[in-house]
Amino acid sequence: MIQLKHGVATDTGNVRPQNEDSYLASSPLFAVADGMGGHNAGEVASALATSLLHKHSVGNTLSTDWLVDTITTINRTIHESAAESIERRGMGTTICALSLVEPNNNNGAPQVALANVGDSRIYLSRAGNFRQLSVDHSYVQELVTQGLISEEEARVHPRRNIVTRALGIDDRVAVDTWMVPVFPGDRFILCSDGLVDEVPTADIAELASQQDNPQVIADALVNLAKRNGGRDNITVVVVDAYGDATTEQEPVTADQPPAKRALNPWLISAVVGFVLAVSLFFVGKNARSGYFLDFENSSPSASVCIQRGSSNQVLWFSPTRETCSDLSKNQLPKIYQQRVNEHLRFTSVIDAQRFIAAVKRALVLND
Ligand code: MG
Repeated sequence: MIQLKHGVATDTGNVRPQNEDSYLASSPLFAVADGMGGHNAGEVASALATSLLHKHSVGNTLSTDWLVDTITTINRTIHESAAESIERRGMGTTICALSLVEPNNNNGAPQVALANVGDSRIYLSRAGNFRQLSVDHSYVQELVTQGLISEEEARVHPRRNIVTRALGIDDRVAVDTWMVPVFPGDRFILCSDGLVDEVPTADIAELASQQDNPQVIADALVNLAKRNGGRDNITVVVVDAYGDATTEQEPVTADQPPAKRALNPWLISAVVGFVLAVSLFFVGKNARSGYFLDFENSSPSASVCIQRGSSNQVLWFSPTRETCSDLSKNQLPKIYQQRVNEHLRFTSVIDAQRFIAAVKRALVLND
């Protein structure tokens, strides 16, 4: 039988006047919520989320369905509470939650149910492997998904704090959930973005792999975030699984094999066709998204142009030229020529134009 032990640390950080993060650590249910809104509204929203989650858990069988129903109800409560007072208007909160569930499926193997809304995160450290289990609902995550920026660029992006989903903002919310098998030795980390923004993923992974008890790890992660700047509130809940495994441990990177069943060949063809059509749609969308710089041609006086799409041809999707500037290759210092040759990318044509304008201003200043 799997059991859980945990450690918790939360801190206002070095800059913010108050701590608007909240957490729940009441085995087998754990959560982190990161509130937003003026006055003390963010604190109210995140505290409502975690306290209601705990209240609704009493006497209930915890599962992904329960998490979706309960978080949907909590969303409505926060939304109504925000509408009741001017000071709380617009308040919201993220939430990520983890619960050990009854082993009544998956051949009786123990599992955890996970839920997420917003950009608080759930990581898993298992047998030397470390990975993020939740998917952020944020502007920069959308850029990462489209392949426009890397995960490390997202971590320091100026718009990294824009969340695209939160509790309390609308009367309805979509809740993402997952089921993950759990084994003795697994370590789950739930955290607010105050940790993620200050500590590189490799450093979180390194600390998470240490043998210390979960409280030591939670304290160490929060202290590291503070040492690295502590510009936001920081909350970390570390949950360690221990006990007897009923199945053999599997590597963190492996997907769980589905149960063997005879499948209808027509159904397989329909699903394959559908997946191909959807894949082609997204490949096309991705190949046409974003902008990059290029020279008009190979001559020394070639203009700097803005192209739309991927700089490498993807299937039959070629980039198209949006516009060319009056900035020419022979006006540019080597470093900028190199950046154009490397097809420097932008999310919008306006951003690309702004970059060209900034280079032109810099060249005038240097004359
Ligand atoms: Mg935060």
